[in-house]
Amino acid sequence: MVHLDLRKIGDAGVAVLRMDNPPVNSIGSQVRVALGERLAAALADDTVQAIVLTGTGKFFCSGADIREFNTPKTQIRPLLRELIATVETAGKPIVAAINGTALGGGLELTLGCHGRVASEDAKLGLPEVKLGVLPGAGGTQRLPRVVGVPAALNIIVEGEPLTAQQALECGLVDEVAADPVEAACRLALEIRRGERASRAIDPAPLGDVVPANVFEEARRNAQRRYRGCIAPQECIACIEKTLHTDLQTGLTFEAERFKFLVEGDQSKAQRHIFFAERKAAKLPTSAPAAEVRSVGVIGAGTMGGGIAMSLVNAGIPVVLFEQSEEALQRGLGVIQKNYEVSRKRGRFTQEEIDARLALIRRSLDYSDLADVDLVIEAAFEDMQVKKDIFAKLDQACKKDAILATNTSRLDINEIAAVTSRPAQVLGMHFFSPANVMRLLEVVKGARTADTVLATVFRLAQRIGKIPVLVGVCDGFVGNRMVSHYTREAYFLLEEGCTPAQVDGALRRFGMAMGPLQMQDMAGLDISWAARKRQAATRPAHLRYSKVADRICEMGRFGQKTGSGFYRYEAGSREPIPDPEIDALIAQCAAEAGITRREISDEEIVARTIYALVNEAARIVQDGIAQRPSDIDVVYVAGYGFPMFRGGPMFYADTVGLPKVLETIRQFHAEHGQYWEPAPLLVELAESGRRFSDL
Ligand code: NAD
Repeated sequence: MVHLDLRKIGDAGVAVLRMDNPPVNSIGSQVRVALGERLAAALADDTVQAIVLTGTGKFFCSGADIREFNTPKTQIRPLLRELIATVETAGKPIVAAINGTALGGGLELTLGCHGRVASEDAKLGLPEVKLGVLPGAGGTQRLPRVVGVPAALNIIVEGEPLTAQQALECGLVDEVAADPVEAACRLALEIRRGERASRAIDPAPLGDVVPANVFEEARRNAQRRYRGCIAPQECIACIEKTLHTDLQTGLTFEAERFKFLVEGDQSKAQRHIFFAERKAAKLPTSAPAAEVRSVGVIGAGTMGGGIAMSLVNAGIPVVLFEQSEEALQRGLGVIQKNYEVSRKRGRFTQEEIDARLALIRRSLDYSDLADVDLVIEAAFEDMQVKKDIFAKLDQACKKDAILATNTSRLDINEIAAVTSRPAQVLGMHFFSPANVMRLLEVVKGARTADTVLATVFRLAQRIGKIPVLVGVCDGFVGNRMVSHYTREAYFLLEEGCTPAQVDGALRRFGMAMGPLQMQDMAGLDISWAARKRQAATRPAHLRYSKVADRICEMGRFGQKTGSGFYRYEAGSREPIPDPEIDALIAQCAAEAGITRREISDEEIVARTIYALVNEAARIVQDGIAQRPSDIDVVYVAGYGFPMFRGGPMFYADTVGLPKVLETIRQFHAEHGQYWEPAPLLVELAESGRRFSDL
């Protein structure tokens, strides 16, 4: 757990304490106990003049063991705070040799040290805010005293790690070295001999080192960027404490605020999502993954362009195939424009962009796809178009190539059936914009082979996506659920709401965007086409809202036509309520014989979110998703569901399934068949279980 190595440097002795807790060197209760013992031994040993703390492999220490949160193990002494205090007040210099990643509690440990040396590839950060908590072992009190208030605000509230070079520039580390342990031993002895100043923290209040509005502005920014999240605000409050309170008082305040957050629903939800993402990435198979060396992308439209960018960003060569030179030019133009925006924002240099563009080979000929390992089709959403393409791909591509479709809703098995290789056909459902959104629904067809899934999962991770395994059905997981959510939004309009009221209630709930605004963004024509397709099989006795159809009939397809549920000024995405739409809604309601009424935010949220939950329960029961937590990942990563509510399933568990069921039964009685409770929900609620028990 913690190794002690005594080194002789000249005539001085240095104790090197090396934490070793694979795989990520987290600092759980066992490591704390071992480190406490080793530290005490080194401090008591008269032959030891200085101490160096380091880690193993790529990790200095990745932070506290999250699995121990809210368990008695966190109370096993020494606590991390106590260990850091021992380091800070030690009679011998203690220097951190940050050999790799130092995150959270790991970085906080180094802040108690008297010097810090980082390896060239080290990453240093306090990402606690992403788990809905704050750095609770002194990070909010010591970091501002080391790097200043503005840098500390940035590091703690954003939660993004710094590179070694950035850490050096802001004074977080004293040196960057190829051999950090060797450099740290030297630095520790120099401090011991008084040749270098110790970086021990000055416990006095910092005073008014920044203008008063810095914190106001930080609060406003955090409020805007992390709407509804309480952890960023608590981080800011703790940092503000450093101005006028001493270290000890600040640490007590920080510990209280940490306790408040770690015991709250938001942090539980965020930790749930953290583990859910990791669980989703595990396939129920140990089949081997093959290497994907190059990829063909069919269609250079909205999705194809974004998919191509994701691939070349990870250094994977792409053959970008289109049906005409004109379409190809248009698609490449959009890709270039997107990269240009990134360059202006400082994300990529021109050389980096050129290198990426050079990886894209343009193609109008299927024979160019003969050697690719994988093809991702992103042509029009039309079964016949897709079948034609897959038949041609089957002819053109090498025998072991994988053929994937980015279809949003179509039957993968029907597409696979036109090929001679159904085991190598699957869905790869990216989300728009595909170069930004991290979710990837990996759709397993009836005959898709396990090795194909393993290969695609590995590729997904290589290009920075979060893959979730789903089964074939209309809309897979995400879009199948969203149909129920938007249906209720349309019904609420007829029953008395305005679009702004529905969207506002859901934004206040925490959704990144309301359902109607989302429809306007995606394009109303897309769901209109789907509804027309489904019209023939839609049972006549079921309620159907004509609002969206009527809006489309007016030629209003959302943002792309400058109007939909809202209107838009040229070049703006800001939705503006439109009285014409209010009148249309009232007319549709009158035609359907609906008396409009006052509707509360609470009802809007229950009607839409429980519609998601009820359908999700059916999806789990049908085996379309592997586990409820996968659905949470889909909704948080792909549909703007608030991370601090943990996804629809976790949210339902938090509300309590009996209560959710009771409300759904009430809706069933009032609104009819759509609300028939999902059998799985009934079973769980009535047996006192939760989705998370499955
Ligand atoms: P799009 O209309 O922007 O692009 C489609 C492109 O495919 C066009 O450039 C077209 O020229 C090209 N194309 C059409 N037929 C072709 C053929 N036979 N050979 C080569 N190229 C051909 O559409 P999009 O929004 O990018 O959607 C593409 C696919 O992705 C659809 O199946 C859609 O359902 C799915 N999808 C879309 C979104 C979204 O938000 N737009 C999200 C997820 C999935």
